[in-house]
Amino acid sequence: MSISQTIEKVEARYAHQPEFVQAVKEVAITIAPLYDAHPEYNTLKVFERLVEPDRIMAFRINWENDKGEVQVNRGWRVQFSNALGPYKGGVRFHPTVNQSVLKFLGFEQIFKNALTGLPMGGGKGGSDFDPKGKTDSEIRRFCYAFMRELHHYVNKDIDVPAGDIGVGGREVSYMFAMYKNLTHEYGGVLTGKGVGFGGSLMRTEATGYGAVYFLENMLAAQNDDIIGKTVLISGAGNVSLHAAEKVHMLGGVVVTVSDSQGTLYDAAGLNQEKIDWLKAQKAKSKPLAEYVDVYGGEWFAKQKPWQFKGDIAMPSATQNEVTEADAKLMVDNGITYVVEGANMPLTAEAIDYIHLHRVHYAPGKAANAGGVAVSALEMSQNSVRQYKTFEQIDLRLKNIMKNIHDSAAAASEQYGQTDNGYINYMAGANIVGFKRVADALVAYGILN
Ligand code: NDP
Repeated sequence: MSISQTIEKVEARYAHQPEFVQAVKEVAITIAPLYDAHPEYNTLKVFERLVEPDRIMAFRINWENDKGEVQVNRGWRVQFSNALGPYKGGVRFHPTVNQSVLKFLGFEQIFKNALTGLPMGGGKGGSDFDPKGKTDSEIRRFCYAFMRELHHYVNKDIDVPAGDIGVGGREVSYMFAMYKNLTHEYGGVLTGKGVGFGGSLMRTEATGYGAVYFLENMLAAQNDDIIGKTVLISGAGNVSLHAAEKVHMLGGVVVTVSDSQGTLYDAAGLNQEKIDWLKAQKAKSKPLAEYVDVYGGEWFAKQKPWQFKGDIAMPSATQNEVTEADAKLMVDNGITYVVEGANMPLTAEAIDYIHLHRVHYAPGKAANAGGVAVSALEMSQNSVRQYKTFEQIDLRLKNIMKNIHDSAAAASEQYGQTDNGYINYMAGANIVGFKRVADALVAYGILN
């Protein structure tokens, strides 16, 4: 079955899963030149096999709130492909979580993990549980209840979850505690653990820092650098605030962060003190808008950051947050680099617009792979029970991001996607990630 026939089949079968269809189409349109060069992929129906997860576990989570009322949520784990290693991908707690969202994230994760060159398959999980407004004891009870179901399916050699939206160090610790309690096993079943009990240094920072390292490589490819560049960032979570921190450390000027309530604009730029304040504020689930009372700047309720002038945009909140109209605003406002901290933050139309206007564009699969790369380093540290220093991990991360950049750029060139110095990182990253997985599937025959 050809790629276009597979797309048609996916569109017909999963019309009710728009995010998943979107993610499949994005990969499909870019790997055609690779497919043409490898007829064995077609014979072995590699793409048709990869668009169906190995399995999806769906479960119910019963827990009690502080008033003693019984609450019922839904949970899932999508084990998409373990062709290159144990299933690996985060857990998301957000009311918008459903099978479509988790399948899109799991599908992307296969190729992202392959791009790192580290031994990981792809998976994703989560729940429609909304952590907003919940007390710490409610979060704890929910995490325990979630792992009571999830522990049946995960293990350090089978499937290794981590954090994502709504799941950070606190939630991972609660889930890890429940896993240990149920299995009597102390191992690397989850990544993003506290550094005092098996976590890796730099895991918290890795996604945001890694995205900025990727950006540095993109700038270098155009004989440019980050110093003095104005950067618009969306989101104010783990990825956004660590991206902001690294941009500031390297001499760029971050003028926006945002959340689901609106956008904070500070023309003076974020410095370390302001970023630390923002981290503390988000950890307490308090409003971003209060920043203005402490440091000045302006709060724009219910607005996104793309209305402001800048050189670089880093959408780092959630999927499809950048529409075609937003992409147009970016171009009009002088943005020449778009680096995705989030997973699939640009709609397909926004990507087309950005490409048409020759804005240098890094897809999340490549640019935000630093988080999962350091998760792989956490897994190997857990296995050998020896831990690396912050500097050692940082150096590995920089090298991994450079390798991802360089291999995506080389594939873009090799498969005729680079146009007069304009690198198609989306095509390049999809080709490199897909090829690694596809070659493993070919070697395995028709299993997997
Ligand atoms: P967090 O939960 O730490 O932060 C998410 C941020 O995005 C918050 O500021 C949140 O605002 C905002 N946000 C979430 N949903 C929406 C929405 N629908 N509209 C507007 N703003 C929204 O998550 P992370 O920083 O961990 O994740 C952000 C993105 O990065 C996700 O796409 C995730 O999949 C991706 N990613 C994360 C990795 C990681 O290591 N954490 C690794 C690779 C990718 P509010 O608080 O108001 O909800």
